[in-house]
Amino acid sequence: MCGIVGYLGEKDAYQIIVKGLQRLEYRGYDSAGVALINGGVNLYKCKGKVSDLIEHASGKDKSGTAGIGHTRWATHGEPNDVNAHPHKSMSGNLALIHNGIIENYASVKASLVEKGFKFQSETDTEVLVNFIESIYIEESVDLPEAVRKALNHVVGAYAIALIDKNNPNQLIVAKKSSPLVVGVGEGEFYLASDATPIIEYTKNVLYLEDEEIAVLTKGEEMRLFNIKKENKTPYIQELEMQLEAIEKGGYDHFMLKEIYEQPRSIEDSMRGRILLKKGIVNLGGIADYEQKLINAKRIIIVACGTSWHAGLVAEYLFEDYARVPVEVEYASEFRYRNPVLYENDIVIAISQSGETADTLAAIDLAKSKGATVLGVCNVVGSSISRATHGGSYTHAGPEIGVASTKAFTAQITVLTLMALHVAQKKGTMPASRFRALLHELAGVPKLVEKCFEEDEKIQTISARFKDAKNFLYLGRGYSFPVALEGALKLKEISYIHAEGYPAAEMKHGPIALIDEEMPVVVVANQGPSYEKVVSNIQEVKARKGIVIAIVTEGDVDVKAMADYTIEIPKIDESLIPFLSVIPQQLLSYHIAVMRECNVDQPRNLAKSVTVE
Ligand code: GLU
Repeated sequence: MCGIVGYLGEKDAYQIIVKGLQRLEYRGYDSAGVALINGGVNLYKCKGKVSDLIEHASGKDKSGTAGIGHTRWATHGEPNDVNAHPHKSMSGNLALIHNGIIENYASVKASLVEKGFKFQSETDTEVLVNFIESIYIEESVDLPEAVRKALNHVVGAYAIALIDKNNPNQLIVAKKSSPLVVGVGEGEFYLASDATPIIEYTKNVLYLEDEEIAVLTKGEEMRLFNIKKENKTPYIQELEMQLEAIEKGGYDHFMLKEIYEQPRSIEDSMRGRILLKKGIVNLGGIADYEQKLINAKRIIIVACGTSWHAGLVAEYLFEDYARVPVEVEYASEFRYRNPVLYENDIVIAISQSGETADTLAAIDLAKSKGATVLGVCNVVGSSISRATHGGSYTHAGPEIGVASTKAFTAQITVLTLMALHVAQKKGTMPASRFRALLHELAGVPKLVEKCFEEDEKIQTISARFKDAKNFLYLGRGYSFPVALEGALKLKEISYIHAEGYPAAEMKHGPIALIDEEMPVVVVANQGPSYEKVVSNIQEVKARKGIVIAIVTEGDVDVKAMADYTIEIPKIDESLIPFLSVIPQQLLSYHIAVMRECNVDQPRNLAKSVTVE
């Protein structure tokens, strides 16, 4: 995962790199480091966050106009000072940063050790930089060629940036299965894992393709080729992203800002796509695959984490609206099974970052078996958006908080639109219901706004349960995936163990856990399974469990028996996830803050999971 930043030009490289690393810290925060060329290659690196690096480097000479920086999410070797990137080659001439995993590092390392190379760290990255150096020295080729040859030999994923003490005006970068963006300024280059560190300096960027190598030379045009030695013409595109979108805007944490942004991000994700007057849905990115969608005998959804929960919501939506069977798969499992796929299957891949390694691999597998793959991702130009046949972006804006919030509701916005569209085209839904749903969907942003009115009450509930050891989340139908999502949010940012369950399934096991210490969050909105959920609440109460119920406003029955209730506005059952997830996001946020957890950078996690 990790964040990569680089600069080559006339400006103070350290400041640009460190600021960029802070923007990318959501990608990993086990350690941070910078290498600057200034006479030699000067290294500043330590375990911990970018703030630790700043302290570590304070008072030291950090001048230089070329350099690279890294925030690590450790895969090989524990997070410590030595394993922190950048890694130097044995001669000390080269320094490398790397995002990804070199899978055959052990055999490469063994051959280098035989040649007399010595290693300081346990990382696969140090093996790669020495491998490049060994080729550079032994084969008397120039450095870009040595990089090319090395990358032909290694197996795995990489986004790398390399500097050379003896060539201070040059930066060599390459990628495969990990993202890398080059910003092109006036006689200068910027480099980062995503565009957020770059946009304040230039909007002109190049997204590197897999197996491409770019040689950046100060004051010159970039040279682009691939590992097969084929020259490429750089496709420089202009970014539309705004700087304000990636700053905290007065909120204490990105997560809270992003929770509160949801009315807008949902609105943005449906803008231009709901044509109320015409009574249609307009999804340009899937127009070419419309017929295939209509004819599909089956839809398979592949995703990970929160996106997988959005996929589960979509399973209910597509089956309910469009009468097509849906399977929802963890991308990591799907890719290593031998799944049965037919040419008329539609695969939908969901990922906020568009870089999730397992989801990308699942897409490749599905394509190789002839399936049509559509993407739902948030980052424009991301690997998934490029690897899929078509798809629809969510327009949630940059999501920085590691715990996903606005991406989830934006994903279900797009998936609801897709399901409605297919239903209309197939004629599986009465026109009156279609129109009513379209209107209700258009009104969701306002209703989400209303959900925030319960925030104070949620803070009181959070204070009461912040020290709980376990939580249970229950829901039925459309609310079951939301229960899973609520439990995941709590786990990832507050480190409280939580489980999500279909409410009726509770009596097949988890009910044994219930006692007077166990808070149970129940999504108990009015709808077809309301009475059943009321019975499930009775079962919890009979065992002295504490019930926090999310209910439809005006509810009477559940209020009479639950310990705490949080109201959400009334809405069609299929759209409840948009609203019922909000109190759960707020609950986990407040509990985590009260437990003094690092909400935006929870331990062991990273935002975009670019390793498998
Ligand atoms: N595999 C490398 C390491 O463990 C890079 C990990 C990353 O992407 O941060 O250092």
